[in-house]
Order: sequence, then C-alpha cells, then structure tokens
Amino acid sequence: MNALVRYQRISADRKPARFMIAKNTPVDFDRDAALSDLWELHDDAMCRFNRSDRSDRSDKSDNSNMSEKRDEPDGKSLLDLKIAIADRILENCHFCDRRCGVNRKKGKPGYCRIGAVSRYSSEFLHYGEEPELVPSHTVFFSGCVFSCVYCQNWEISTNPDLGMPILPGDFARIAAAKRGLGARNLNFVTPTPHLHTILHILAKMRVNTPIVWNSNMYHSEEAAKLLCGVVDVYLGDFKYGNDECAKKYSNADHYWDTVTRNFLCAYNDSEILLRQLVLPGHVECCTAPIIEWVREHIPKVRFNLMFQYRPEYLAYRYPEINRLLTRSEETRARELSREMGLEMERGSPG
Ligand code: SF4
Repeated sequence: MNALVRYQRISADRKPARFMIAKNTPVDFDRDAALSDLWELHDDAMCRFNRSDRSDRSDKSDNSNMSEKRDEPDGKSLLDLKIAIADRILENCHFCDRRCGVNRKKGKPGYCRIGAVSRYSSEFLHYGEEPELVPSHTVFFSGCVFSCVYCQNWEISTNPDLGMPILPGDFARIAAAKRGLGARNLNFVTPTPHLHTILHILAKMRVNTPIVWNSNMYHSEEAAKLLCGVVDVYLGDFKYGNDECAKKYSNADHYWDTVTRNFLCAYNDSEILLRQLVLPGHVECCTAPIIEWVREHIPKVRFNLMFQYRPEYLAYRYPEINRLLTRSEETRARELSREMGLEMERGSPG
C-alpha cells in the first residue's frame, strides 16, 4: 500500500505541490475568449501537465531545493486559466452536481445560498484529523451543497453568511504563517462552492504545501477537471451506497453516479484518503456496497471507516438513525472491510 507517499514528500518540502507546478506551466489565453475555447486550451495544457506529472511520479528522487521551483513565469499559467474558467462558471453555477445554473455574481440564488464571496467560520491547526495529516491547517468554509439531516457542523453548513469574507491575498498570508508554525497541509473543508476562491488563494500562495480537498465528492465534472493538477489529496467522504439513502438524508439526486465518477477521476489524478462514516442501520445498504466498489475500482486508497456517528441536528426526525451504532454493527463493518482487504483506519478525525 503506497497511499499518500507523494503527499508526504510534498509535506516535507521535498516535492512541489501540484498547484505550484500548475503555476509554472505556461499557457497563453485571452480571458474574454469563449468558455469552450478556454476549455480546449485547458485540456491541451492538462495533457502537457500530466506528461510531466507522470514522469515526476515515477521519479523517486527528491527536490532538495524547493525554492528553485518557486520562480513563476512572467506570462499566464495553467493555474490562471483554471481561475478564468472558474470565474466564468460562477456566472452560471455548476460547481456541484446540483447544477443550479445561476449567476452567483448577482446574489445568492442557488441551492447552497452562497454568493460570489466565500466566507469561513474558522481556520486553525487541527490535531483531530488522520495521523498523516496532523497538524492540518483546516479551513471551515460557511455553507454547503448538501443538506445532511445528521450534520455535526450544521451551524456552519446551514449558514452561508457566517464568519469572515475571504480576501485571497490575505488568506494566502495566513496559510503561509500556519505552514511556518508546522502545518503539514492546507485542508479546505466543504470546498465545492468555493472552488473559484480556492484557486485565487493558490495563485497568491508563495509557500509549498500540499492541498487537501476535504469534500463530499459531489462536485460537477467541470469542477473535477479544474481540480486535476491542483489537489494533492482528495479527502473524500463516501456517505451512501445507493441513491435512495442519499436523497433521504442529504437531499442529493443521482448520488452514486456522481460520487463514483469523481472518485475515479480523483484516483487517476492524485492520492485519496477515503472516509466512510458508518450510519446506524446502514451497514448492509451503504457501507457494504461502498467497500465492494472501492475494492474493485480504487483499491489503492487510504481507507478510513469511521464509527463516531452520533445523532445531531435533525436526526431526531428519523428514528432509524436517531441512535448510536451498536457493537455488532461496528464489528460487521470491520469484518466487511477486512474481508475485502482494504486498509483499516489508523485513527479517526475528531
Ligand atoms: S455550488 Fe452547487 S448548489 Fe451552489 S449554486 Fe452552484 S450548483 Fe448550486
């Protein structure tokens, strides 16, 4: 199992983070060009990026002097092109697979009720994530594209106007300071509706740090393409094993196709730390099919079964999940994971 090997090198400053490489990949483009033309240029540039990325993956040597990698080209880069496309998507929003198609530069008319300006409720060095990640500079964005009835962060996820507005330059300085204090990564939580903001932050960043996309993996195909070449670790929640449970508890349509598509894309792009929060009464309908799919399609991931579910927020309205897991449910989930040969958890986020 080679999960998160490259991440560890970036974290130790022995390899460049992928957004740094994207910054150093020159692309000439006109910001006012048609979106379809921008995508064409993007796809061409990603072919070049992937060729050099693959040779870098097979290269076991480390870059001893990362500062040499930090000089940026004078002209526009692949990261600039991704920003131009993301800013355009914001006008007809399809960052997530709800695909509201609204102009978020003119208000907050989409399902998530998030405008063009992103807000965060807190950012800090988090010591409660998986051992490979801590201390993790974790940024909790306000708002969410899901509506999980058992959300433990519901005060943040249901209030997109909570907290501080993000100014990318200022936030890049905060991230640099946290890296200086020992952060092993920069970990964006519920990032999907804030993709444009994240790319703008990365454009301002001058420090090398791995980027963690801490997400429900419900982003659109277009967002997935923008993430390729930028994210170092997809920290993805795989919540449900079927569409019915996703609809009932998170009000998400076509969940299975969306999330499996995005995990496959992430698998081809970079490294994955996959979390599965075991829900009471949902071991057979959710945990079991997820484990089976992961084993078959994306076996080389760091897999973390989580057992800390507790009923929060609106869970009291759903008697079947308005309780803790039983010991036998936990045992059954562990057995399934072991039978499938997936790497078991070595620590759970708090
Ligand atoms: S991020 Fe998703 S939910 Fe929010 S406006 Fe865009 S498509 Fe709609």
